[in-house]
Amino acid sequence: MNVLVINCGSSSLKYQLINSDSETVLAKGLCERIGIDGSAITHQKAGEGKVKTEIPMANHTDAVNFVIEKLTDAEVGVIKSLDEIDAVGHRMVHGGEEFAGSCVITEEVIKVVESCNDLAPLHNPANLIGIAACKEVMPEVPMVGVFDTAFHQTMPKKAYLYGLPYEYYDKYKVRRYGFHGTSHDFVSNRAAEILGKDRKDLKIIVCHLGNGASITAVKNGESVDTSMGLTPLEGLIMGTRSGDLDPAIVTFIAEKEGITAQEVIDICNKKSGVLGLSGGFSSDFRDLAEAAANGNDMAKTALDAYAYRVGKYIGAYTAAMNGVDVICFTAGAGENNAEVRALIGQYIGFLGTNIDSEKNKVRGEEIILSDEGSKVVTMVVPTDEEMAIARETVRLVK
Ligand code: AMP
Repeated sequence: MNVLVINCGSSSLKYQLINSDSETVLAKGLCERIGIDGSAITHQKAGEGKVKTEIPMANHTDAVNFVIEKLTDAEVGVIKSLDEIDAVGHRMVHGGEEFAGSCVITEEVIKVVESCNDLAPLHNPANLIGIAACKEVMPEVPMVGVFDTAFHQTMPKKAYLYGLPYEYYDKYKVRRYGFHGTSHDFVSNRAAEILGKDRKDLKIIVCHLGNGASITAVKNGESVDTSMGLTPLEGLIMGTRSGDLDPAIVTFIAEKEGITAQEVIDICNKKSGVLGLSGGFSSDFRDLAEAAANGNDMAKTALDAYAYRVGKYIGAYTAAMNGVDVICFTAGAGENNAEVRALIGQYIGFLGTNIDSEKNKVRGEEIILSDEGSKVVTMVVPTDEEMAIARETVRLVK
């Protein structure tokens, strides 16, 4: 089967056409600045270079039409016609408490996702626009929604409730949901596979360290705790997000700066994290590692604070599971950034991780970093959220 995987943002649309039988990516790309001046589609056929075409896209329906045009193009295309797309898998951000798994998209499902909009006001409406656009362009093709929050629906109450009056959970469903679920699920599964073990017999901590970052404790195959919360702002220090804060800071800064609480939250989302800590230098871990090596103290402090927070969470989740067998690093920095992994390694050695500094130099590959016989296996497992979405889509439409 050919599955078109769609990840829709408010002004962007990422896509991959995946052949699920061979599990290969046939083509992928990105539509940017949809509805804004200067919109463009960047398309890449497997094994070939990227082709960027600047073209006005008034809305997401235009974008989906251009995606189909590229996929069926005589030169850069990979299929002859729309008929060769068997299903569409949509990355969905927030499923609230309504979705503990993926599902075939129906009118009913769309209504339920709409009811979760206020939990993810930036992401969910964009996901729904993507669904509507695909429905318009390919009405007969079945579609599946794969939710970032679904894998974490197994968390027990003690992990997902905040220490707030219970009525806010009752009335507004204020609780921890967690994100990157597709990645945490995929990576913990793959780690068990690599180790030749059943995930149900393992205690795994997955560190998804991208620009957005989260950590999950996966016990016996289920998420039992995760660092992101009601929104993706909680938990680790990230590229531009602050992660955990004393909530009183929000109104304190708002009063001092004469801005609204919402403006402070925007700063926490977009101008904080390692970007903020490095004095606005960069949110990119490559830049920071290079600057730190060249004596930039703020960059060094940002990386230290980042690694320290990851280490603290690993300690906490070891307690949450009463032990840990496997620690996985994944996503951009987790897969590629040896400096960041080495810094984190300084805080978790007490567990018996024994990270080998030579093996730790490897970038972007599956590798066991610990010496043989280490008490806790530390490894790199590249994530592949699109492949996970394609697999779920096939499972549900077949
Ligand atoms: P993601 O959000 O998963 O794309 O991750 C983005 C982060 O991964 C950025 O901070 C990058 O600096 C980091 N990253 C991506 N590729 C590399 C690389 N080859 N070496 C070091 N860091 C990388």
